[in-house]
Amino acid sequence: MSEELNPFKIAQEQLDKAAEVMKLDKHAHEILREPMQEVAVHMPVKMRDGNTKVFNGFRVLYNNARGPGKGGIRFHPQESIDTVRALSAWMTWKCSLANVPYGGAKGGIICDTKSMNDVEIEALSRGYIRAINKFIGPQIDVPAPDVYTTPQIMAWMMDEFSKIQGHNEFGVITGKPLEVWGSEGRGDATATGGMYVLREAAKMQKIDLKNAKIAVQGFGNAGTFAFTLAKEMFGSKVVAISDSNGGVYNPKGLDFEKLREAKEKKGSVQDAKDVEKISNEELLELDVDVLIPAAIENQVTKRNADKINAKILLELANGPVTPDADDILMERGVLDMPDFLVNSGGVTVSYFEWVQNIAGYYWEAQEVYAKLDKIITKSFNDVIATRKAYADKKMKIAPRTAAYIIAVDRVAKAMKARGWY
Ligand code: NAD
Repeated sequence: MSEELNPFKIAQEQLDKAAEVMKLDKHAHEILREPMQEVAVHMPVKMRDGNTKVFNGFRVLYNNARGPGKGGIRFHPQESIDTVRALSAWMTWKCSLANVPYGGAKGGIICDTKSMNDVEIEALSRGYIRAINKFIGPQIDVPAPDVYTTPQIMAWMMDEFSKIQGHNEFGVITGKPLEVWGSEGRGDATATGGMYVLREAAKMQKIDLKNAKIAVQGFGNAGTFAFTLAKEMFGSKVVAISDSNGGVYNPKGLDFEKLREAKEKKGSVQDAKDVEKISNEELLELDVDVLIPAAIENQVTKRNADKINAKILLELANGPVTPDADDILMERGVLDMPDFLVNSGGVTVSYFEWVQNIAGYYWEAQEVYAKLDKIITKSFNDVIATRKAYADKKMKIAPRTAAYIIAVDRVAKAMKARGWY
């Protein structure tokens, strides 16, 4: 990975940019440039071929001034400590911007789940929890799903942690299945939150979302719900979507069921009928109203930022746009809504799940969505108001910088109140 695309360097650069604009105290800045704690673990797993394979994993607690760590666990072949560090920093800003009482954390295991069966994945998941159990807990650090981890994996992990404690500890992990006290609405929470941001952004830009053309990168949890919800909530037309093999395009709009079937039966959306195959790069440059990156980091960089044709870029993935691309997009008038606002629905409903687990009292889906909408819409309005306040001072800042200013200020004030600097 080049230094320029190192996600942790990018996270630090984004913080530095906001720190300069907001004139952040230099001691607070120094504390916030690095994670508070990093744990590296090695887990042996007996594989189905009789061999034992040792997997490497991490759990990073970035900052806990405002509450226990919070952040997902990623299973990915290219996982690295710097990716986990960056994601833990972004979780800190995300929880702060949403104003939920958490710090930020993240975990990851270097593994390729596509080549593993369920027995091996379960053994690895339980091994990871045994390795990090002293560093997590409902008041310490609360994991959740992320790329290539699922509610089932969360259930195994909660079960392993509960066994170690000797009692049920449902609140140790969120994103669980409903059977073991997950929350209504958690499955589609990330995309639903993203749709609330899109609704507000389109209103502001006077874009009619009915029949608006949308391209989505990624066909996982975030991407598939973004597809179906954009159609359901606004009547928008999803004209392109992709997975790691590549994308598909149909200017008349894609049929979700056909894509899902192709993905399930043949492995890729590219195997669906009546679609034109396109590459992931081409998808990003399509002439659409809304572009939704919902896969991985570093997709819009200085190499392609001047070719993005969308009016709104809705960052549902974490870290899809690099800092040098930020400036190009702003100059070109693309409204780029930052990841830690757009995808904060996931952690917000995770917070609801944790609250319900601790209280032992469960809410209906409608209540979850109403509370989520209120939090996300407030965050969106805060970002726009902060941007305007700087514009009034003749400083043009990107929505991302505005979001950073709000989030960093809250964490810095909590650290100050606690006497950390
Ligand atoms: P997922 O594992 O369910 O899906 C990931 C998708 O990305 C898959 O369709 C995969 O094929 C695709 N993909 C992988 N590499 C790709 C590539 N090089 N080009 C195009 N597509 C590629 O993961 P998810 O939970 O949907 O997460 C997607 C993004 O959203 C990540 O950045 C994640 O951190 C972020 N996110 C997810 C949640 C959540 O609750 N699921 C919450 C916040 C942020």
